[in-house]
Amino acid sequence: MPPERLTTTLDIHTTGPDDTRSVGEALGRLLEAGDVVLLQGDLGAGKTTMTQGLARGAGADDLVNSPTFVLVNEYQGRIKVYHADLYRLEQPDEVLALDLPGATLDGALVVEWPERGDGLLPAEHLLVRIDHASPETRRVRVEPHGPRASALARLLSDALAAAGGGGSEHPASGG
Ligand code: ADP
Ligand code: MG
Repeated sequence: MPPERLTTTLDIHTTGPDDTRSVGEALGRLLEAGDVVLLQGDLGAGKTTMTQGLARGAGADDLVNSPTFVLVNEYQGRIKVYHADLYRLEQPDEVLALDLPGATLDGALVVEWPERGDGLLPAEHLLVRIDHASPETRRVRVEPHGPRASALARLLSDALAAAGGGGSEHPASGG
């Protein structure tokens, strides 16, 4: 195998909710069943906003909102997208009961507040960390865990570059 970076961490700066949705949409176009995206960030960071883009990119037309009561929402597009929000869960067995790894058998899995399911979620995943930079801007860090996630990160980097820098994107030093 030629030498190549095993990980590509992306740092993306978004300048409003639509920009964050666009990044999500670019990633959503790349998702396949079995893929796992974990979304970290404070309340109001933009995890659900990002998921709206992910679902749209995966071809789902439905309106995406927070699965506050249902805990897991399912969107059907080119592939199925399962969207879970673990914010309200307190016990590991509540997380286990959702059988989130099982969702990856026939769809892509997107999880807000994955910290609540620490150790119970697939070890191979694309970690997306969203932080406030200003009221309207966010720093979006995309960090792959595992070979498929690394491929996704590289493809996302290419897609964002091809889209002509809607949002600045810098591949960080590879690991
Ligand atoms: P979370 O799911 O992380 O709690 P939401 O996506 O529900 O966050 O809410 C994010 C809020 O921040 C929305 O009201 C959105 O309009 C606003 N916002 C402002 N700028 C951005 C940005 N650059 N990216 C994402 N959301 C933003
Ligand atoms: Mg949310």
